[in-house]
Amino acid sequence: MARIGFIGVGNMGGPMSANMIKAGHTVTAFDLSSEALEAAAANGCAVTDSAAACAQGQDVVITMLPAGPHVRSVYGAKGEQGSVIDAVDDGTLLIDCSTIDVASARQVAENAGACGLKMVEAPVTGGVPGAVAGTLTMIVGGPKDAYELAKPYLEIVGGKVVYCGEAGAGQAVKICNNMMLAINMAGVAEGMSLIKALGIDPAILKEVSSAGSGNSWALTAYNPEPGLTEGAPANNGYKPGFTGAMLVKDTGLAIEAGIATGTPLPLGGAATQLFQLYCKAGMDQDDMSGIIRMLQGKYRG
Ligand code: NAD
Repeated sequence: MARIGFIGVGNMGGPMSANMIKAGHTVTAFDLSSEALEAAAANGCAVTDSAAACAQGQDVVITMLPAGPHVRSVYGAKGEQGSVIDAVDDGTLLIDCSTIDVASARQVAENAGACGLKMVEAPVTGGVPGAVAGTLTMIVGGPKDAYELAKPYLEIVGGKVVYCGEAGAGQAVKICNNMMLAINMAGVAEGMSLIKALGIDPAILKEVSSAGSGNSWALTAYNPEPGLTEGAPANNGYKPGFTGAMLVKDTGLAIEAGIATGTPLPLGGAATQLFQLYCKAGMDQDDMSGIIRMLQGKYRG
């Protein structure tokens, strides 16, 4: 059984680290939020007071952080005091599960590789329900030998592990996935709003479309209409889950990549604007499925 340092134990990292413990590993956690750390301790993690202390002496370090700047600063580089790359032992395997921009992923992988460390990026899809159930899809990028080493750990938190290619490939796939999620979620929220306005029970639309051409994960596993999907944030006042701010971060990365590659993304752009409005209206820390409220002219509070 391995010693694992887990940095970033929020909505996703919390249940993922708990599953590592359930699988028999020893987990030491670090997070800037004392609330997140307390929850990790209650799940059986040892806790530390810095990223470097969390990374020191571990077989594996896993990170689940908000965005590229957090990942770059936590990993740092050899000789950078307090950084993970500086603190770890030579044989420590590094796994970054955060969703970040391709350039940051490649930079961190290069810094790790420069001192002989094995590293993969493994952003995830499946949301908090998938993190709790250990059924996430793990979207892996990095050297094949590092992937082989990481796979047994990824299989604990993931129901499916997909190798996408060298460093950056996993993040490229992930941002396309989340752009499609934003478009799908907006579509489901519009359909659910319209069916209600037409006086028909939204459960009937869900039943029909889930067996038909309107099907999507947003419809069946994460429905924005309360009461239609077990465990969905819609049943819990849109407590995240996956915040509006995080979704806009991800669709923003897709739009940037679209501009860089000359790829038109009209619906990705529209979805980004819609979710930006949602954030601007004060719901940036609510779950992204709460967009349905805004479409129905309802706001928080
Ligand atoms: P979160 O905000 O709940 O958790 C992130 C945690 O990182 C927070 O607890 C925060 O305090 C901590 N943190 C930030 N900077 C830190 C630092 N320098 N050192 C230590 N801890 C630090 O976010 P989340 O929803 O768990 O998302 C994490 C990542 O997973 C994001 O990249 C997100 O895009 C991705 N993701 C989220 C979901 C989801 O449904 N929530 C699904 C798939 C992917």
